Amino acid sequence: MSSPATAIRVVESALREFGASAVVLTSFQREGVVIVDMVQKAAPGTTVLTIDTGRLPKATFEMIRSIEDRYSIHVERIHPDPAEVASMVESHGRDLFRDGYPQRVLCCQVRKVRPLARRLADVGAFFAGLRRSQSDSRADVEIVDRSSSPVKICPLADWSHRDVLDYIAANGLPEHPLYAAGYTSIGCDPCTRAVAAGEDERAGRWWWETDESKECGLHFTPDGRVERHVDVLLREILERATV
Ligand code: SF4
Repeated sequence: MSSPATAIRVVESALREFGASAVVLTSFQREGVVIVDMVQKAAPGTTVLTIDTGRLPKATFEMIRSIEDRYSIHVERIHPDPAEVASMVESHGRDLFRDGYPQRVLCCQVRKVRPLARRLADVGAFFAGLRRSQSDSRADVEIVDRSSSPVKICPLADWSHRDVLDYIAANGLPEHPLYAAGYTSIGCDPCTRAVAAGEDERAGRWWWETDESKECGLHFTPDGRVERHVDVLLREILERATV
């Protein structure tokens, strides 16, 4: 495991290197709260960002207020482009993510990925709470990823779930209220559910998707280029959003 002292050294070193151009990005799950705590103790007032997709559970806003009070900060909410959301909802409905993997990825692109990319464009580095043991797709998370732009810093990359719980207990940190309801990973309200004992930590995210349904399919453009289905959908809704 990485001790809290090692993770705090990573935080302090990044803050020295990037100064005010370093930000924290969090959805206020346990790991994110640990990062906020380390960063605010090292450099009070460091910018904390969260993505308000428009589909977050009420409990997340309670958590945001609790963090704002605790550290006397204002958490900056990143919002999707209203015209892009309107175009997507008009074309595919508000709950399009139930229709298939491409539609789900489209919704995540419009509500999360694109707004975040716009906001991070002038940021030097961002702290995130990813851990390698959370899922197979996170097994290679680096503590400092300089191939990412902006630089991505994950001080808890080699922490276990137990390490996180111990830090929270030792520092008396607040926990997102949905953990008490059986959630182990928390995101948008319609795409997150509680998990059963023994299930993977991220089993409650997009639980209706199977590996087969994630085959998003390829499409061919008139000039013979291959496009993913989600790219086609995104292009269509962006065209309508700019009309
Ligand atoms: S998690 Fe669900 S509601 Fe949230 S942006 Fe992705 S598909 Fe849309």
